[in-house]
Amino acid sequence: MLRQYELVDRVLGYDPEADEALLNRAYVFSMAAHGSQKRANGDPYFSHPIEVAGILTDLHLDDETIATAILHDTVEDTLATPEQIEKTFGPSVARLVDGVTKLSKIEAQSDNERAAENLRKFLLAMSDDIRVLLVKLADRLHNMRTLKFIPSEEKRRRIARETMDIYAPLAERIGMYEFMKEMQTLAFAELEPEAYDSITKRLEQLKKGGGDQVARISSGIRLMLAQKGIKAEVEGREKHPYSIWRKMTERHISFEQLSDIMAFRVIVDDVEQCYRALGLLHERWPAVPGRFKDYISTPKRNGYRSLHTTIIHHEQVRIEVQIRTHKMHAEADFGVAAHWAYKTGGVIQPDVNSRWIRDLVEILDHAASPEELLEHTRMAMYQDRIFAFTPQGELIQLPKGATPIDFAYAVHTDLGDQTVGAKINGRVVPLRTVIQNGDQVQILRSKAQEPQAAWMGFAATGKARAKIRRFVRQKEHAENIALGRRFYEAIVARMPTGLKPEALDEAVKRLKLPDADKLMENIARGALNDAQVMEALMPGSSGQVGTNVHPSQQSVISMKGLTPGVAFTLASCCTPVPGDRIVGVRHPDAPVCVHVIECPVLLDAPEEDWVDLAWGDGSDGGTARLNVIVRNQPGSLGVMAGILGGQGANIVNINLAERDESFHTFIVTIEVHDVGHLMRIVAALRAAEAVVSAERMEPQAPLAA
Ligand code: MN
Repeated sequence: MLRQYELVDRVLGYDPEADEALLNRAYVFSMAAHGSQKRANGDPYFSHPIEVAGILTDLHLDDETIATAILHDTVEDTLATPEQIEKTFGPSVARLVDGVTKLSKIEAQSDNERAAENLRKFLLAMSDDIRVLLVKLADRLHNMRTLKFIPSEEKRRRIARETMDIYAPLAERIGMYEFMKEMQTLAFAELEPEAYDSITKRLEQLKKGGGDQVARISSGIRLMLAQKGIKAEVEGREKHPYSIWRKMTERHISFEQLSDIMAFRVIVDDVEQCYRALGLLHERWPAVPGRFKDYISTPKRNGYRSLHTTIIHHEQVRIEVQIRTHKMHAEADFGVAAHWAYKTGGVIQPDVNSRWIRDLVEILDHAASPEELLEHTRMAMYQDRIFAFTPQGELIQLPKGATPIDFAYAVHTDLGDQTVGAKINGRVVPLRTVIQNGDQVQILRSKAQEPQAAWMGFAATGKARAKIRRFVRQKEHAENIALGRRFYEAIVARMPTGLKPEALDEAVKRLKLPDADKLMENIARGALNDAQVMEALMPGSSGQVGTNVHPSQQSVISMKGLTPGVAFTLASCCTPVPGDRIVGVRHPDAPVCVHVIECPVLLDAPEEDWVDLAWGDGSDGGTARLNVIVRNQPGSLGVMAGILGGQGANIVNINLAERDESFHTFIVTIEVHDVGHLMRIVAALRAAEAVVSAERMEPQAPLAA
């Protein structure tokens, strides 16, 4: 842990005019306030705020920010009050501490409460003073560095997930790439430990196997530029494991296929030399088309400037090169923070008029901000969200594609049930109109209205769909009973002799049904055929008793595009899972057979038998076949099984299809939730060192019957 004088010396080292007394007061105040509290690793709690302050001294931040870091958990976690802070440290530090405290409170809320509300609060707190965000990011970074000491795995994963989804993108947003990378690396190690281990291990192997490639390539570039009269610093590094993993999963490629895992920076004196160096690199090594980006003439929105290109350095090895000046370089790693340092020639004055702080605040203040703020966020939770307003200005969060019906149900169930129309931004629109971010939506209602089956065609939220479905089902239920009763009367009319009055009650009992309504419903749905009904009413009355052909229901799979109750099966040739694009094929005496759209079997089925299908909501579960090739080495099979287990895939069958000295090929049948789950499993397998390849199997021609 940093000692008091060390911390103060660090700050004085870059800002001789810093308020030493302020820092000393903060140190003592925080130590007294946290008292004997302990961190999960047994360290005194007090070490945490001091380390956070230490991180911020690396960014050369001003004395108020450092004091805020030291005090950042006192109001939230100790008996200290905002009034005390203000009295002891002045209004400016008190305001900053209050900002950080607010952000921490949002963190403690449950996911649901937080989703929409937290972002707005976030933004408000930040537009106030960007230093609040810098302290919060440093706080999160230190918590990630010490994450492994938290005993509960669930809690560790939640923190890691949140870091990946919210804090790393925020750091990126304001140009703090070093923070972003370290957060991602630490979160990745927690969330995908096997993938992290295998990627790190393979990076090490690569280093051992190929000598120090990075150093060789760096000095080659430096030498080439020097010969042409450019004095350049060249830095090389392997990409961080998470960015490698992201590429592997996004492009569905294996580690071997990944050709650009090294990145280099060429740092020169001025802008002119940047472009000259670029020309020389392209002259010497072929450039990969489409990879050149000029962020010097057009900086990124967060202020980032550099030239980016990718070259083919030697066979199979592509390298990424970033070219920039020393000044750009300092700004590139620490974004907003470095920008301040340069502006004021080393002494830090937060400059609220700086262009990109203004930009940032503008983004944050704007209605569309949560989306834009998280534009790089990997988490669907925010990416596919829109925000709309009630006429009273209340914010309603909906999935993309939501319509006024969803909006109405999100506000209140009664409002949903009684919707007859909607106005968006003051204009009457059809109910199927898709709501856009920032729209103001007013629902027109009528007490006489009831939910309409047609709404299912455009309601997007689970809540709306569930309410509509339930209502429609109840209505259908009543209609089915009425329909069944008519069939029943027709059956009775066809029977040879009159029935006893108690025949219906006896039939219900014989069929082990709860009541006559259920019997009528079963008749309507075709679950009971005429012969079965006759037999139940008067044993021996039907010449032959048909077997109950009602299909057994698939567990949680349903189909859109089929009349409810019509039976279907999932084809064994192509084993569709929820999320696949599918087509059904009608058979005269068998259930509709569901195939993936690429299945060759479809080519043999006449088009008039095709049924256009989609997975019903909440469809979950299916089996899939994978072709997995592993190295012939001890433990390979165990690694594969471990990954499958770790990803929650139930193994139904493993078949050794082929083996030779080097490789074993397995056909693995697993149960998965859906296509997304399947893709994650494949990506995880591919990341393993023991696995050479993993593919979902192509549809197979069915065996001749
Ligand atoms: Mn903290």
